[in-house]
Amino acid sequence: PSALLDVRNLRVSFPARGQMIPIVDGVSFTLNHQDILGLVGESGSGKSVTALALMGLIDAPGVQVTGSVCFRDQELVGMPQKKLRHLRGKEIAMIFQDPMTAFTPVYTIGWQIDEQIRAHERVSRQQARARTVKLLGDMGVPDPERTANRYPHQLSGGLRQRAMIAMALSCNPSLLIADEPTTALDVTVQAQILELIRSLRDTHHSSILLITHDMGVVAETCDNTMVLYSGRVAEYGPTSALFASPSHPYTAGLLASIPPLDGPRPLRLPAIAGAPPLPQNRPAGCAFSPRCPYAHTACTTALPPYIATGPDHFAACVLPQEGTPLPTRIRNELV
Ligand code: SF4
Repeated sequence: PSALLDVRNLRVSFPARGQMIPIVDGVSFTLNHQDILGLVGESGSGKSVTALALMGLIDAPGVQVTGSVCFRDQELVGMPQKKLRHLRGKEIAMIFQDPMTAFTPVYTIGWQIDEQIRAHERVSRQQARARTVKLLGDMGVPDPERTANRYPHQLSGGLRQRAMIAMALSCNPSLLIADEPTTALDVTVQAQILELIRSLRDTHHSSILLITHDMGVVAETCDNTMVLYSGRVAEYGPTSALFASPSHPYTAGLLASIPPLDGPRPLRLPAIAGAPPLPQNRPAGCAFSPRCPYAHTACTTALPPYIATGPDHFAACVLPQEGTPLPTRIRNELV
């Protein structure tokens, strides 16, 4: 399969106290056409900053973005904002945890989706509205014609989320970035929205980057999974392989803490003893070493190399390199 998005050595550094602090520190991955890639990590892992950098949305003074983000053979790092703005919405769209950040409260849902379509295509108001109503219907919004005339605050959280996905899809983007799209929803609605996101791959031929702190969401939705820790990739692999046989102690810890399928989902990752380091205080070598029961001298002297542990499956940990299998009992030790 060919790559839609190829990210190489992405680094996003913010200035603080006269230094540049890398929040995202050398992230590389590939997203293939019609693939759903889960980007998972605790808050502060750099997952949302990665997403914003991919969209060219980090334009604050003093922030440095380096490396390469190649989208359909176009380099996005360093692309002028005007060109990036054109790509956003048309070819790359984003959905957020809170639909109220995407919609303006003072206009109807339909009007806002119509405008999004008309900003990128020369179509009449009637043509845009017909597309909006069809999209809302496709997203499972009941009575889409009437719903289009309602204001965001008049819809339930689940319906607003469906409307936001409709707006994101309105220009047929080839890449959809979804940042914690279901975190604010109750479990039943969450399952419905995940089902909808999964179906977009087939109905709209979308490739999706799904950002979440919830391994349960990843398990249900993603073809491949990338685990971020302290701004670096800890593990990347096919979701089935990564869940069946994690190669990084951090991934194993996350898996041990998945809540029961029918229970409420926590808002944060359940506790793995300790907390991730602040980016300005990353320890030398493996950033997970202060929390890892398998840390030894080799872990703290140099960055662990990426080692292939299966087909398309990699982990940044010295254990596979040293030939030490990750003990299954680590699951109990970490939680
Ligand atoms: Fe643990 Fe060392 Fe692997 Fe880091 S490199 S996860 S400290 S065993």
